[in-house]
Amino acid sequence: MNINTQLIQQSKIDTVDFNNLNFGRVFTDHMLVCDFKDGAWQTPSIMPYAPISFEPSARVFHYGQAVFEGMKAFKDDNDDVFLFRPDENFKRLNKSGERLAMPPVPENVFIDGLKQLLKIDNDWIKKGFGNSLYIRPFIIATEGAIAASPAEEYKFIIICSPAQSYYAGDVRVIMAEKYSRAADGGVGYAKAAGNYAAQFYPTSLAHKEGYQQIIWTDASTHEYLEEAGTMNIFFRVGDKLITAPNNDRILDGITRKSIIQLAEDNNIDVEVRRVSVAEIKEAANNGELKEIFGSGTAAVINPIKGFKHNSDAFELPVLKNSYASLFKEKLLNIQYNKSNDNHGWRVKI
Ligand SMILES: *Cc1c(COP(=O)(O)O)cnc(C)c1O
Repeated sequence: MNINTQLIQQSKIDTVDFNNLNFGRVFTDHMLVCDFKDGAWQTPSIMPYAPISFEPSARVFHYGQAVFEGMKAFKDDNDDVFLFRPDENFKRLNKSGERLAMPPVPENVFIDGLKQLLKIDNDWIKKGFGNSLYIRPFIIATEGAIAASPAEEYKFIIICSPAQSYYAGDVRVIMAEKYSRAADGGVGYAKAAGNYAAQFYPTSLAHKEGYQQIIWTDASTHEYLEEAGTMNIFFRVGDKLITAPNNDRILDGITRKSIIQLAEDNNIDVEVRRVSVAEIKEAANNGELKEIFGSGTAAVINPIKGFKHNSDAFELPVLKNSYASLFKEKLLNIQYNKSNDNHGWRVKI
């Protein structure tokens, strides 16, 4: 594929302390930008990472026509670079975009463009367990026109940020009883920027009560558990793993579906079904509830230490052989090319 390429004069990589990275604050030397105009995606460009200017009337600022993805690249001990299930991110970006009336990005612009970008910024991908390059592809409506209708011009952009594994500290969550992140027939299944904005305020209220995240419940009854903050959610009751089924309120997480597959591979019972607040509280009360954890690309797996519903607070036991650490290790081993990849999830750059 043809990509216009303009390289930076001098890399800023020497100014970066890779042992003290703040997640999502530092970006690599280059970015990929592709414009949609006159009804077609134009030739993409790789150019120096830098501010871009837009008309104040750009529709993204007014109507939130914006979708994004989150993925990672990993480097093994031989300096080979791998992506994890990138085809899934590509498909999901366009599924999200379709819901927001945006034109689909061609596969070669996304996949070949990303591979080329990673080759150019290869030095930014550090090897060693826990180090990775976080990749943020996104589409925004750039057309300067404030009529409330879909834009006719867009930008597809990929930026990359070096990341380290991080320990978020103990995570305790509140099960939502008032606010919702998504509604039936809404955009919850899309990685739409506005879904995140809508979570900030309720989450800040949870912070004030000493909780780090909210477990979102179904919008109509608040009786079923759906997502943990910006992650999918799993419960271990006895030795059984339970997670909510995908629907139009739940994001179809790639980490989530990989965990379901790994559980099946390891003969762990998985139930994909609605999970009620009542059954989890009951399981906590009778000692059957062993674990709750969130899953997502950024943190992979985030164990949850405790939760609150109504005025009832619960603490989870500390386990030696947790499913959370089992699945995290299995996923990381696949991602860093340290174990067999039976499902063809790894893609070498
Ligand atoms: C991105 C995201 C996830 C996790 O998806 P992964 O593909 O596993 O990274 C879960 N829930 C929400 C709301 C998300 O935006």
